[in-house]
Amino acid sequence: MKLNLTTSTPDAASTEPTGENPVEKLIVLGSGPAGLTAALYAARAKLNPLVVGGHEPGGQVSLTYEIENYPGFPEGLSGQALVDLMTRQAEKFGARIKLFSAVSEVDFSHGSPFTIKTDDGQAYRAEAVIVTTGATPRHLNIPGERELTGNGVSYCATCDGFFFRDKRVVVVGGGDSAIEEALFLTRFASRVDVVHRRDELRAGQTLQQRAFANEKMHFIWDTVVDEVVGEDGKVTGVRLSNIKTGEQTLYPTDGVFIFIGHDPNSDIFTGQLERDDFGYVVTDKLMRTNVEGVFAAGEVQDRIFRQVATSVGQGTAAALTAERWLAAREVPELAATESAG
Ligand code: NAP
Repeated sequence: MKLNLTTSTPDAASTEPTGENPVEKLIVLGSGPAGLTAALYAARAKLNPLVVGGHEPGGQVSLTYEIENYPGFPEGLSGQALVDLMTRQAEKFGARIKLFSAVSEVDFSHGSPFTIKTDDGQAYRAEAVIVTTGATPRHLNIPGERELTGNGVSYCATCDGFFFRDKRVVVVGGGDSAIEEALFLTRFASRVDVVHRRDELRAGQTLQQRAFANEKMHFIWDTVVDEVVGEDGKVTGVRLSNIKTGEQTLYPTDGVFIFIGHDPNSDIFTGQLERDDFGYVVTDKLMRTNVEGVFAAGEVQDRIFRQVATSVGQGTAAALTAERWLAAREVPELAATESAG
């Protein structure tokens, strides 16, 4: 992939402190697997990285009940446990992780050092930035959805499944997330209905087999949810449409779990970083964005794989490239190696 790089030269003034905050060597935006791995590698390279961790420490994976496909853990482990281990490991080598503070504004337009503002009123400058701000669950944008979120509508089975003990729930979507989360919900709910807009699932075969073998799981094919219906502020049903027959039904349920994919958390970079038609930050194989000195990794730039293992790999690559880029600024002879990639 060819990127249009905006270039900048090392700025002598860049090492001067701004207010109370000195110019950082490297700031990582986000604390999911990509960000924590980038921080680990950067810390071991003595870049003293600062991680602006956001309001969901650990990112989406921390909400995953069980991860069975992250190498090295044959028995599986919870997303939170994995994030805790990654955090400990990054901190052990000196990464500074600032939680509950999210990036609110960036200025990449003048080249390095870059300006980053956070929603707790802080402003930072950094010679290099690695963007790992992840993705957010997509909404259906139907009547009742927003009003009943937190009162029966949920995007996180791990967080809310417990409240549906012996109740009926509807799961919307047919991908890995929907089926994995639906299976998790069978631990609590008396019945789980998967509403899918086609007549076959997108989810992988292993998950499909487990889902079809589970007595609590039921499937409503070729169907979309038009409305979430509630009474006294609680979900009581969903209005369904069969897209083949046009038939409409009011289907009773106590909860609606929506897993229809994600959108990258990249709006904040509008006009600053090149993004594709779906909003994913565009990078090359070295995880470089179109702005020299700004790198991206994980789900904010990955529309295809979106696995913990791939995010970890991309975080590693971003940190290694950032390290080489920073070194090349200090020792220009290294620049040739850096650009050779
Ligand atoms: P996904 O694969 O994009 O699946 C989204 C599902 O929602 C699809 O079945 C899609 O239907 C449906 N959908 C999308 N928009 C819809 C709408 N407006 N109304 C109704 N249905 C809608 O998303 P995902 O399940 O979140 O997975 C994302 C990625 O993460 C995938 O690469 C997946 O393999 C990976 N992942 C892996 C694991 C694992 O390996 N254990 C677990 C979770 C996620 P169509 O099928 O008709 O398009």
